[in-house]
This record gives sequence, structure tokens and C-alpha cells, in this order.
Amino acid sequence: MIWRCAVPSPLRRHFDYRPPADWQGTVKPGVRVSVPFGKRAVTAVVVSAATESEIDETKLRHVTALLDTAPLYTEAQLALLRWAADYYQHPAGEVLPLGLSPGERRGKTERTVGEPGLSLTTRGQGLPEGAPHRAPKQAALVFKLKQGPASLQALATEGFSRNVIKALIDHDLATSCELKADQNWRTQTPPLPANAEQYAAIDAILAQTATFAVHLLYGVTGSGKTEVYLQSIADCLERGQQALVLLPEIALTPQTMARFEARFDAPVVALHSGMGDAERDRVWAAARRGSVAVVLGTRSAVFVPLCRPGLIVVDEEHDAAFVQQDGFRYSARDVAIKRGQLEQCPVVLGSATPSLESWHNAELGRYQRHALTQRAGTGTLPRHHRIDISGLDLSAGLSQELLNRIGDTLRDGHQVLVFLNRRGFANALLCHDCGWSSDCTDCDARMTLHKTPPGLHCHHCDRRSALPRQCPNCQSQRLVGTGVGTQQTEAFLTEQFADFPVIRVDSDTMTGRASMSGLISRLDSGDPVLMIGTQMLSKGHHFPHVTLVAVVDADALLFSPDFRGEERLLQLLTQVGGRAGRDKTPGEVLIQTRHPEHPLMQQLDRPYHTALPALLSHRVQAGLPPLGALGVIRCDSQSRREGLDFLHQVKNSAVAAAGTQIIGPVPAAMARRKNRYRSQLVISAKNRAVLAASMETLVSAAESTRRSRHLSWSVDIDPYESL
Ligand code: ADP
Ligand code: ZN
Ligand code: ZN
Repeated sequence: MIWRCAVPSPLRRHFDYRPPADWQGTVKPGVRVSVPFGKRAVTAVVVSAATESEIDETKLRHVTALLDTAPLYTEAQLALLRWAADYYQHPAGEVLPLGLSPGERRGKTERTVGEPGLSLTTRGQGLPEGAPHRAPKQAALVFKLKQGPASLQALATEGFSRNVIKALIDHDLATSCELKADQNWRTQTPPLPANAEQYAAIDAILAQTATFAVHLLYGVTGSGKTEVYLQSIADCLERGQQALVLLPEIALTPQTMARFEARFDAPVVALHSGMGDAERDRVWAAARRGSVAVVLGTRSAVFVPLCRPGLIVVDEEHDAAFVQQDGFRYSARDVAIKRGQLEQCPVVLGSATPSLESWHNAELGRYQRHALTQRAGTGTLPRHHRIDISGLDLSAGLSQELLNRIGDTLRDGHQVLVFLNRRGFANALLCHDCGWSSDCTDCDARMTLHKTPPGLHCHHCDRRSALPRQCPNCQSQRLVGTGVGTQQTEAFLTEQFADFPVIRVDSDTMTGRASMSGLISRLDSGDPVLMIGTQMLSKGHHFPHVTLVAVVDADALLFSPDFRGEERLLQLLTQVGGRAGRDKTPGEVLIQTRHPEHPLMQQLDRPYHTALPALLSHRVQAGLPPLGALGVIRCDSQSRREGLDFLHQVKNSAVAAAGTQIIGPVPAAMARRKNRYRSQLVISAKNRAVLAASMETLVSAAESTRRSRHLSWSVDIDPYESL
């Protein structure tokens, strides 16, 4: 007998072991084992049992210990992880641990989550009344337990001593047990009365609760998508089933968490990065045993074990945060859909700006689409207005017209959000005399100028250096910052609007949940506030008192060479603009651009989805997703030559399936990062099946191609960016 195991290693294969020396019987796939691997002992997962190995059996080593009697993985969860390893062509040994908590990955036994209690054994149940007669205390305890298991704590308060409990256990009359948490899950605060569109969506989602279906909830910003999730989840909990909600960002959206917690009289947990390992172990075990009703989490939560899943929600399904872009590259949205299929439960994808992929699937009838076209409650959709800034004098990137509107809005007592997707003070430092620029020594990028604290900072590799007093090249004193960043705009606005609080919101100032909660309570007061921030402000926030949103530089993304550039710009502008006018006072969005006539800028006056047919037809012409399928083999090397040579060999030694086109090898858009050279092969296929076949041959070619140990490569299926 041979046990085939997934061992944590970057090798794309399973490893065979012989069972522990004295082993008898069968083994269940999914159990953890401790195995020798090289000179180390590691925790691995049994994938299957086999009768023979390709390796000479006498050379196979023994499993040292079996860690579980039953698999920790649920059946569907194990199937999901194995599918993901296969689909994304990533080593199963690195993918399977994602279904375990940190402690479990290290081989710890599963944590108990219920309250420790005591229950009668069959023998104890069978005792006649009043027995054991010579021990009245024990008899009283037996009498009590005949009504059902009791918690040790309750027994202690009722005066049953430890000795009495021990006596029953010793005589095999009682046994310690774990008390299941109360699973009578209810809704605590009443739902909002759903409007007709919300009702139709909820009704469709609840029409079939025990089968797989994907619902695309296309609801404009502030249309009450969250209310649709909440009411669908309420129904799921009443059936005793669990719900999984994936969000792009959790630490910065405390409002969403609070809404879920307030609505249900049931355990709601959030998996977030600030959580310690012990707490994560506990939540993981609780979710697996069904004593958690709702799990909220970011992308990796898609792999959390659930014993009775009833609904999966992916909020802001278009968001790039669902795509893991290094190591094991996957899309949590796509994995969530696969999970719904394996668990046989509905999946709800919500967005005001659905991805082209999801929209296309709805058009094809694979997904059911539900639209929420109006803002819920008192809000109305904002008006968009473009400010043509070509030829204008700008102060810290802002035109006079924009400044006037900001001033008016603040003086009217409203809140303003200024959006600028660039941190720091200036994009780069330049010498006015010789043209020197603050290039990063390790990346093909410029270091950003920061004023608080002062210095140069590379946002790609995190390198920091002191601010030069003079040009390092020609000693000139005339150093100027180019490209306005949030710090500069903040400084300027603080000076201009000294009577109003100006708050900067970017990853330099918002370093945790506390800072965002602080900001939110400040905004809740309704007093005029001027916020200046990055992308961070575009995500799902509900700021009821913001009536003006200003976009400082919409052109930055307009001519992006990436195939998703236009789609992303439209999503970003719609989402940022969607923060305006969410309550009684109508909102306005001002966009500064040098290309007011560009179709994408014009598009903002119309509903988001009307842009999609044109975007889709561009993709059709280029054979790009969602029409074709795309994969990338990325390579990271010490020299440029080495990376390109490696990829050339891979390309030449593999025979790609018909219907595949291989582009490259070419250097990546940022060809050097952290002093490593980045190059890639882009594989474009007519469909996913062809892509899978071609990728498989390329991956095995890459595995057998000789390379220096300083070179690493990775696979990216359905890449978010192709550059
Ligand atoms: P979305 O998730 O679509 O951006 P939200 O769920 O945040 O929108 O809803 C926006 C606002 O509308 C919230 O304040 C919410 O309480 C309110 N709202 C949602 N549905 C209703 C409803 N049916 N009746 C009244 N107010 C609603
Ligand atoms: Zn100079
Ligand atoms: Zn750098």
C-alpha cells in the first residue's frame, strides 16, 4: 500500500510514502500526516492511496505519524483545493494548506470550540432510577444528566464536585463532551422594507437555495446591494445554513462589518489580517463545526471550511483585490463560483461596475442578472461634470473652477472628497539644470518624493533614501518635484481652506482599523470636512454627507497599455463618483481631464453597463478574455539575458495545442524590480480547454528546463494584468 501525499514544496507532483510501520486498514484522503522530507519532518496531506509507485518501493520512506483520524477538510473543500491546484497549475502541496488554519498547517490538533461538558454514556443512560444507590451525589448527577448534557461550568455552580464527575467517568457512566453552540440563528434587527427591485433580486436568489446558481447583482452605487445580501443571508441562517461573504477589503470597511453584526442574532466573524494565529485557529475550527453563522473575509477566506454552507456572496466582484497576484495566483471570485458548484449552493456576485467577464456570462445566460437601478433610501445618483484642464494654470494639480466648487460646497455645510491616486508629495524629483531624476537603483521606476516624513521612497521595492539637498549629478540647487501627490494637494488645500478640517486618506495615514473608524465617526457628525485620498476611498464606503467628489487626474489611466485599462478606469471613476450624494442632498462629480471628448469620459453620463458592448467588441477583436483565454509564464532572474533565455527554451521545447498563440518572451512592463529582471511568455488560446492543454505542456517544459537556482518562474492563469 502506498500513500500519495501533497507535501509543501514548490514541486508540481505528489510524493509517495509507505504507511506507518504498524499500519492496518485504509486511509481517508485529506488526513494530515507527518512525513520525512529531505532532512526535515513536515506536515503533508494524503491525497490518495495507491497500490504501486513509480519509485522503487524499497526506497520509499514511511509516514512517521497519522495526525487525524478523520480529515479536517470537508469533502467539498478538499475537492475545491484540488481543483484550484489543477486549474491554476500550482503545486498541490502549496495549495492544500490554504484550507487549514495556521496551527493546523503546523500539525497541531484541531482546536475544540464548544464548551466543555459532560454527558451520559449508554451505560449511564441505562441506570435504574436512584442508582448508584450507595453514592447519592453521583445518583443526583446521573439524574441531572438524564435530562441532557450539561456544561462543566454549570455543574460546578450547581455544586457537583470534580470528584463526583470523575467517579462517573471512571465507571464509564459519563463522558466528557463538547457542547454545541446554540444554532437557533435569528435576525435581530428587522430588515429594511425592500423596494421592488431589491425584492425581485432576493426572491430570485431564494427561489432555489439548494442548488448551484450564480446571480449577478448589478446595482448602482448606494442602491442597497448590502440589504439584498442581508435578507438572503437571513433566510440562509433560518434554514440553519452558513453564509460566506467575501469583501475586497475588510480592515477599512468597519461599517460593513457592523451592519452584519447588528442584523443577526448569530455568530458573525470577520477574518482579517490583524488576527493572531490562535484566534484564526479558533474561528477556523468553529466555522468547520458549524458554530459560526456568517464568515466575512477577504480573498483567502474563500477556502475557509464550512460544514453547512448555504450562500456565498462576493461583494464588489470586479475588484482587483480578489486576484492574488503573486505566489499562488488565483481569483477568489472565480474560486467562489467553483465552490458554489461543488457545495451546491447559490453564489451572489454584487457590483455597481461588474467585470466584463461576469457581464458576459450573464449575457450568455450562465448567470442570472438582477438590476438595482435606483439609489435606495433618500439618495439620488450624482451628476458628472468634466473640467477641461488643457492649457490651464493648476495649483497643486487643481484648477480654479474646482477650487471654487470645493469652497462653495464646504461653506454650504457639506463634505467633499478629492480623489488622487498618487501617494506622496510628488511623483519624482527632477534636476532643473541637468535633467537628473530620482530613479530607484533597484527598479525601473522613480522614487516618490515624500514630505512627511521627508525623503525619497520607492513604492515598488520600499527602498527609502534621504532627500538630496542638491543634484547628485551637477550639484545644482534647482530640484523640482513633478507629478502632484496627495501630500502636496493636502498641504495646498489646508492653506486654502484653513477654516475647515482637511484629512488625508491613503495607505500612509490609514494604517489600521482604528484610523478608518476614527475617520468615519468624524464624518458621521455631518460637519463640513475636506478629504483627500487615494483609491482607498473608492471602496464600498457609505459617507452620507459627501456631496462633492472631485477627481484630480482622470487621464493617468486613460491610455494604459494593459487590456483592462479602460475597464478599470471606468470602474474607478464610477466607484469614486458613487461616494457622492448618497443621502438627501444630491451629489456632483467633477472630473479634471485633458480629454473631455474621449468616449470613456463621455460615457460617465450614461449607466455603466452601456459601455460594455464596445469594450467587449475590442476584446473580441483582440481575442482577449472574456472571449479567449489567457495565461502567462512569468520569470524572475538575476540578469535580463538569463530570464529571456530560459523562456525561449521553454517555448521551443513545448508543443502548444492548436488554437494557441505564444507571445514573447518579452520583458515585463516594469522590466526590473527589486533588482530582479522580469520577463514573460503570454499564452493566448481560443478557449480555456485549449489554454489548459498548452499551459500543461509549457509548465512541464519549464520544470525540465535547466536553470540557475537564482531564477524563479510562476504561472498565472486568467491574469488580471497581462503586462
Ligand atoms: P450598496 O451596497 O448598493 O452601495 P448600501 O447597501 O450601502 O448600498 O445602501 C445605501 C443606503 O441605502 C444605506 O444607508 C442603506 O441603509 C439604505 N437602504 C438600502 N436599502 C434600503 C431600503 N429598502 N429602504 C431604505 N433604505 C435602504
Ligand atoms: Zn543636475
Ligand atoms: Zn525600487
